[in-house]
Amino acid sequence: MAAPITPDLLTVPRTPQEGGKPNLIGLTRDGLRAALVAAGTPERQANMRTGQVWQWLYQKGVRDFAEMTNLSKAYRALLAERFEIALPEVVSRQVSADGTRKYLVRCAGGHEVETVYIPEEGRGTLCVSSQVGCTLTCSFCHTGTQKLVRNLTAAEIVGQVMLARDDLGEWPAPGRAPKDETRLLSNIVLMGMGEPLYNFEAVRDAMRIVMDPEGISLSRRRITLSTSGVVPEIARTAEEIGCLLAVSFHATTDEVRDRLVPINRRWNIAALLEALRAYPRLSNSERITFEYVMLDGVNDSDADARRLCKLIEGIPAKINLIPFNEWPGAPYRRSPAARIRAFATIVMKAGYASPIRTPRGEDILAACGQLKSATERGRRSRASIAAEAGL
Ligand code: SAH
Ligand code: SF4
Repeated sequence: MAAPITPDLLTVPRTPQEGGKPNLIGLTRDGLRAALVAAGTPERQANMRTGQVWQWLYQKGVRDFAEMTNLSKAYRALLAERFEIALPEVVSRQVSADGTRKYLVRCAGGHEVETVYIPEEGRGTLCVSSQVGCTLTCSFCHTGTQKLVRNLTAAEIVGQVMLARDDLGEWPAPGRAPKDETRLLSNIVLMGMGEPLYNFEAVRDAMRIVMDPEGISLSRRRITLSTSGVVPEIARTAEEIGCLLAVSFHATTDEVRDRLVPINRRWNIAALLEALRAYPRLSNSERITFEYVMLDGVNDSDADARRLCKLIEGIPAKINLIPFNEWPGAPYRRSPAARIRAFATIVMKAGYASPIRTPRGEDILAACGQLKSATERGRRSRASIAAEAGL
């Protein structure tokens, strides 16, 4: 079914992003304090000024130093002379028939990433990108076919959250922070373009900004980081971010996982499971989400379902079955609905919640694994993708 697509240009204020001045967005609290002191803020005022500026930026969403009215005029002028407040630029947005919004976001250097907002009953989830492209080459993932790769900065990551709030009109009036239940943007998933654990520091700093109670103030339990399995960074994620973890599992033997998620050749299923077993305790979180993309005839048999349950035995887990989302040139097909249901039944009988993820925003190529910046789209041929997938 061809659903209506409504591309339009946004009217959010555009801010420079390649000026010579340091950007205040993306600095941790300590970093912001140090920057203010370096600009001449007296040490004895530094904590207070840091708190004030922080609240303007992240609680009220202000982008102009002139609006920071509890600072003296002279201090505002000093800040404006020394710093900038720069977000990545929204080039366009598309709205799907189901309400999903996809933003094409341009960062410094002209690189583009995509950010997706998914409204649901009682909550709204923002799917945030962590890299331009991805260095990994999972054979079923569109992003993995993109050649151009660079890490996003913390400013570019937290900036995606801020520009979505701009578009949703969700900067609260002074003194009235929104309640979690009524927020339009209530959850974040690091499931956009890129492997977040290959950009650890920037992702960590951006999430710390998002979680800060004096700012955007999202609970760590409303943030889910998805990794393809960068084993050495998993414990660090628990300790330094403390968010929920999802893992792109997708196969039940090393032979198949090597093909689907090539990072498995470096850290295999056994090594991954060992790191995952420790995660709930280290992060004090309840359970891990195992993502499992359903590929016709590749990983979707009853035997796979049973092996999966056996492998993750003892790990508090939810299994998220993702019907494969096709993209131009993809070397796989989505498993039939009946096969997905049969797989889900086996998993549920073993005692695991196993929701089947409804693809969202398919008409605007916004569903899981379909993201890829327009400038890079279609560079590789179907044949080269298939060859890499070992087909
Ligand atoms: N790089 C991270 C996070 C981004 S991908 C990771 O791999 O976990 C978010 C999820 O979408 C992952 O589970 C990924 O494996 C899955 N995915 C990728 N391509 C997909 C596709 N074409 N259809 C369905 N899911 C896909
Ligand atoms: Fe990268 Fe994740 Fe796509 Fe794999 S699934 S190529 S890790 S974005």
